[in-house]
Amino acid sequence: MSLSPATRDPTRPETERSLDPEDWDAFAEVAHRAVDDAIELLRGLPERPVWTSPPSGVRERLSTGLPLEGRPLDEVYRDAARDILPYPTGNLHPRFWGWVMGTGTADGVVSAILQSAMNSAVGGFDDSGTLVEEQVLGWFREIFDLPSTASGSLVSGATAANIVATVVARNAMAGYDLRKEGLLERPGMRIYGSKETHGWIWRCVEMLGMGRDAFRAIPVDGDFRIRVDSLERAIAEDRAAGLHPICVIGNAGSVNTGSIDDLPTLADLCEREGIWFHVDGAFGGLVALSPMLKPRVRGMERADSIAFDLHKWGYLQYDIGCVMVRDGELHRETFEASATYLEPPGRGVQPGRLYLAHRGIQLSRSFRALRVWMALQTHGVRGIARAIEMNVRQAEALDERVRAQVNLELMAPTALNIVTFRYRPSSIAEMTEEEVDELNRELLHRIQEAGIAIPSSTTLDGRFVWRVANVNHRSTSADFDLLVTEMLARGRELEEER
Ligand SMILES: *Cc1c(COP(=O)(O)O)cnc(C)c1O
Repeated sequence: MSLSPATRDPTRPETERSLDPEDWDAFAEVAHRAVDDAIELLRGLPERPVWTSPPSGVRERLSTGLPLEGRPLDEVYRDAARDILPYPTGNLHPRFWGWVMGTGTADGVVSAILQSAMNSAVGGFDDSGTLVEEQVLGWFREIFDLPSTASGSLVSGATAANIVATVVARNAMAGYDLRKEGLLERPGMRIYGSKETHGWIWRCVEMLGMGRDAFRAIPVDGDFRIRVDSLERAIAEDRAAGLHPICVIGNAGSVNTGSIDDLPTLADLCEREGIWFHVDGAFGGLVALSPMLKPRVRGMERADSIAFDLHKWGYLQYDIGCVMVRDGELHRETFEASATYLEPPGRGVQPGRLYLAHRGIQLSRSFRALRVWMALQTHGVRGIARAIEMNVRQAEALDERVRAQVNLELMAPTALNIVTFRYRPSSIAEMTEEEVDELNRELLHRIQEAGIAIPSSTTLDGRFVWRVANVNHRSTSADFDLLVTEMLARGRELEEER
């Protein structure tokens, strides 16, 4: 029996046109050109400036109105190759160290093509996407030493992962049926984390209807780690005031400085107090891949939930993060929903519940797992771990170079892969702190705009500082040499201009 209906021929009537190409060979030519161009982009990176601002002609062409009629793909592709491809953010370049942006990998381009062609909706259907996501989540259980009952979900990033974990924590710790009754007229639940906790927490408590007062930002010590004595006091105060402490967030790699909280002590405290222990390991969590670095995040394996990104220190293409919940039942109970149109018929493509679609906010989910699967198969845990170890060594080397230069100044201890520093003018004694801040701001702009390198900045103890967050598998020590050389030369220029 032929499954191909007679209408499946190139002379389909106008009224039954699909969006597929009429000429697959012509399509293949454009598609192959796209692959070649993508490869050239990656191969040519070291010769390119780290970043180029899109020129005015490009800006004009990228602000034209809604296209009503289509054009041939090869024409559209020519426009994309001219106006879009040459102007990436820059985070794929070996001298991009801003924020915490990952580089992506070459194999990621291959998995993106397969993912896109297959367009699987990964929810628990009888398909390869569900098998691969299960396999990948199993690998994460192993990496983080979680029990087989732990459950997880691939999401858009650590913000989503942290929020999903907080919803599970909140529902599990509320002490009543929160899904039914909501938050009204209940004693205020409280969440704790250091004041270095990433901004996702504010979005989270606001969105969950708990309000900003629900998060208590605890002071840090000189190494930017949560002060456990202050935390204990805050919990006791809140209990005495009739409030309900439900969750402590431990940072495994804080966003500003890479500091790692004392996770074993936080785990002990949570156990003692009956509080949910969540670890935000957005980038730092993945040091668990390296036997050499893993001791630094000891205690993470005791967490009730862990959030981490794969598009940062996992080096994968945007956007992908992951949440793991120790007690898979609690994860399920938090999000499970039923609808007649989702009931499993029991056989065929949907043999059971679409359980993967009930572990967070998204119902329809893409085949993100393929990216992880392909990267881990290609590089192995060891390959990724080696790159992470290299990034830590490079950060330590930069730290040493900064400390050896009279015109550079380290601004916080380098905990992992983040170096915070600034240019220290020779005439610093005659300058106000604001003037030093301003000089460093201007210097950073110049280095970025010259396309030399992209560090970002932050404020530490009220001072403007440069921040190099190294999650870049393409950086070499020569790239850091160039940063230091240019920073010193252009810093002197700026001083002379004063
Ligand atoms: C980047 C980051 C986040 C947010 O992750 P996204 O992937 O940007 O959503 C949360 N916590 C920390 C510590 C981070 O560095």
